Amino acid sequence: MSWDATILTLFPEAFPGILDVSIIGRAREQGIWSCEAVQIRDFATSKHRNVDDTPAGGGPGMVMRADVLAAAADSVERRGRSLIYMSPRGKPLTQARVRELAAGPGAVILCGRFEGVDQRFLDARDVEEISIGDFVLAGGEVAAQTLIEACVRLLPGVLGASLSSEDESFESGLLEYPQYTRPRDFEGREIPPVLLSGDHEAVAGWRRKQAL
Ligand code: SAH
Repeated sequence: MSWDATILTLFPEAFPGILDVSIIGRAREQGIWSCEAVQIRDFATSKHRNVDDTPAGGGPGMVMRADVLAAAADSVERRGRSLIYMSPRGKPLTQARVRELAAGPGAVILCGRFEGVDQRFLDARDVEEISIGDFVLAGGEVAAQTLIEACVRLLPGVLGASLSSEDESFESGLLEYPQYTRPRDFEGREIPPVLLSGDHEAVAGWRRKQAL
C-alpha cells in the first residue's frame, strides 16, 4: 500500500516536477508513494470552461469558483485522506503535522491560483488550510510540493539506513547541530577537534550542547 497524493490544480504538468529527482523520485518509482494531478478545468461546465470569476463585492483579480472546485474534489476517491487547501491564511505547516500526514494514507491537495478560492467551497467540504510560511506565492503548486516532499521523506524505506530522521531539526524540539565533512581545513577554518577525537560520548555531548 502506497502513500497517495492527489493534487487538484490548473497546472497538472507541474507534477511530479521537483518530486521526480533524487530519493523522492526513486521512492515514487519503487511505488512507495504515488502522485496524481487532476485538472480542475475538466470540471468546469460553462460554455467557456471558466474556473474563476470576478470577486463578489468588487476588487482586483479573480476567484476560483466553488461549484467547479466541489466537482473536482468530489471526483476524487478520498479513502480516508485529508482534503487540504494550500493557503497563506492556513495554519503554518509543522514537522508534527507532516509526521501525522506521513503516517496516514496520503493527502488530497488543492492548489489555488489568482486571488484564491470561494470561501463556500472551503466551508462546504470542511477543508484544512495549510500555509508554508508568511509570504505569498503565485499559486499553490510549489506549496503542495513542499508538503508532499516533507511527508514522503518520512515514509518507511525512503531515507534508507544511511540517514535517520531522528536527529534532525524539530524532531526533538531542537534544531540540528552543525555538520562538517572533509576537507579538515577550509580557508583556515578547522573542523571542531572533538568531532575528530573518535570519542563517541564526547561527540554526542558536543552535539547536544550545540543543538541547545
Ligand atoms: N489573495 C490571496 C493570495 C492568493 S495567492 C491572499 O492574499 O491570501 C494564490 C494561491 O497561491 C493561493 O490560493 C494558494 O493556493 C497559494 N499560496 C500562496 N501563498 C501561499 C503560502 N504561503 N502557503 C501556501 N499556499 C500559498
